Amino acid sequence: MLELKNISKVYKQKGVSVTALNNINIKFADTGLVFLLGKSGSGKSSLLNIIGNLDKQTSGEILLDGNNVSKFKGRTLDSYLNSYIGFIFQDYNLIDEYNVYKNIDIALSLQRKKKNKENINKILEIVGLTGLGNRKTNELSGGQKRRAAIAGVLAMKPKVLVLDEPTAAMDTSTRQHFWKIIQNLKEKGVTIFYSSHYIEEVEHTAERILVLHRGKLLRDTTPFAMREAEHEKQLTLSKIFLPIVEKLSDINNIEVKNDTVTFMTKEIDSVWQKLQKQGCQITDIEIQNKSLLNTLFEQTEEMEK
Ligand code: ADP
Ligand code: MG
Repeated sequence: MLELKNISKVYKQKGVSVTALNNINIKFADTGLVFLLGKSGSGKSSLLNIIGNLDKQTSGEILLDGNNVSKFKGRTLDSYLNSYIGFIFQDYNLIDEYNVYKNIDIALSLQRKKKNKENINKILEIVGLTGLGNRKTNELSGGQKRRAAIAGVLAMKPKVLVLDEPTAAMDTSTRQHFWKIIQNLKEKGVTIFYSSHYIEEVEHTAERILVLHRGKLLRDTTPFAMREAEHEKQLTLSKIFLPIVEKLSDINNIEVKNDTVTFMTKEIDSVWQKLQKQGCQITDIEIQNKSLLNTLFEQTEEMEK
């Protein structure tokens, strides 16, 4: 089991300190898909790079089965990095003038692992690149390149596969294919630790969702619990209902915009019953699921525009 204890990361540049991670505590059981969600700049890459030993934390410890990873050297470190963690960082590159096989060979030789063409062909099948082993990587589409990179990491047979924003540059169909690969790997028992800034991707079969916000772990939850805990609804009605809305209890954030009134509630059943008694009909109302996370990510999008 991998455990992060009080992990903080402070970058210092030109005398300015940026706290990218603020006292992060996470324990990973070796199963399933862990989804690390956070808007751009929330600290996802900082965290993953520390787990993948590409960078050092400013303070705190990573423990593998109780042993401090920062004390690993030589073979123990190799085995942590190769057999335990397989890492694909955000802008992973292949060597263009080599074919897919050769790229995977290079990845394996870096890890001093033996090549086995039969195994590699199986991996190409998993990532949907059957028959493309001899294709030069600069003759692959963007999505195929990404999958070839994943194949290279899978060839190392890691227990935990760490993917930093793998779908960021993918079109919709590649993304769907990618999710099939992930499902397949999960069924084979690989633990996948996956980061994204797309809240929509939460719908996929994550066992666990970690939400990072400004370097802090804001949520450590499951898709089900997240939906349960954050079932606040947003209601929008014509402004003519404003006098009725103002008399309702259990609502908040009343906003009047043009000819509509909008408000939030966690008590949708009782609010709806009261509105109905006042002559409001279902066709008069628009209801949306709004969670804290939705709000957080909406604000982010506005800021980024
Ligand atoms: P994410 O991957 O979620 O977009 P990052 O981990 O890349 O977030 O960045 C977290 C914060 O740390 C950001 O404010 C970013 O600007 C800052 N940061 C990341 N890398 C460096 C660095 N090498 N030097 C200084 N600041 C950095
Ligand atoms: Mg990043």
